[in-house]
Amino acid sequence: MRFLSRCVIKPIAASLMVTLLSSSVALAQKEFKSGIEWPEPKVVTPGSATVAPSDAIDAIILFDGKDLSQWKNGENWIIKDGAATANKSGISTKQAFGDAQVHIEWASPEKVEGTGQGRGNSGIYLMGKYEVQILDSFVNKTYFDGQAGSIYKQYPPLVNACRKPGEWQTYDIIFNAPRFDKEGKVSKPGHITVLHNGVLVQNHSELQGGTMYDRPPEYKAHADKLPFEIQFHGNPVKFRNIWVREFKELLPPEKASVANKLKELNKSQEPKK
Ligand code: MG
Repeated sequence: MRFLSRCVIKPIAASLMVTLLSSSVALAQKEFKSGIEWPEPKVVTPGSATVAPSDAIDAIILFDGKDLSQWKNGENWIIKDGAATANKSGISTKQAFGDAQVHIEWASPEKVEGTGQGRGNSGIYLMGKYEVQILDSFVNKTYFDGQAGSIYKQYPPLVNACRKPGEWQTYDIIFNAPRFDKEGKVSKPGHITVLHNGVLVQNHSELQGGTMYDRPPEYKAHADKLPFEIQFHGNPVKFRNIWVREFKELLPPEKASVANKLKELNKSQEPKK
């Protein structure tokens, strides 16, 4: 018994202590909320249209229903019937992206469990830092800048275009990555536009920095391109049809900005006095 107590019971007690301590640390973590009193996004019923990835466009297909070989930790998720279910950990693309158009289809669990942030929670972390929230927001209240289609803790969606739990939903995201100068200061903030089930929910919203659970947004200089991630938040959210298109601004052949050039042209057209 003494041997047992030394070799088995003590390590068990020690690991219990560690578990208790770490969970109380997790409980003590203070949640950040902006305190901004946003009006409630109006509920709209989206149409039935879905967008399928097309091999006619120059998209990089990241998930076609078969495997997650283009993702780190993809082996943790469960692939069945052409969909991947979030499990064990988040996943991140092996390829890095900057400015991009992202299409993703998701479905919150048909069996409704939990409330608020605990119901069908996941998210797309552009550059691993800027979260477009995924949540079952069908008759499920939470803080507005944390519901489906929000830029987490920065902007609520313009409207709530959520479908019922278990139904497939689409996000079409247009992301302009932030730019940093040589000193690491933001020279151009990031912007995000989101169509949720074809309905505009973010209109070129200016990112205020990384989206964090426990503190206000903040920018930290980073590379021009980084992988994007899909969050695992303990809920079995399903995904299918994920593709991305990188895009580049078209640069005018002359040094002058388009706006200046057009202004000049406009002046030259003015009638001479
Ligand atoms: Mg989330």
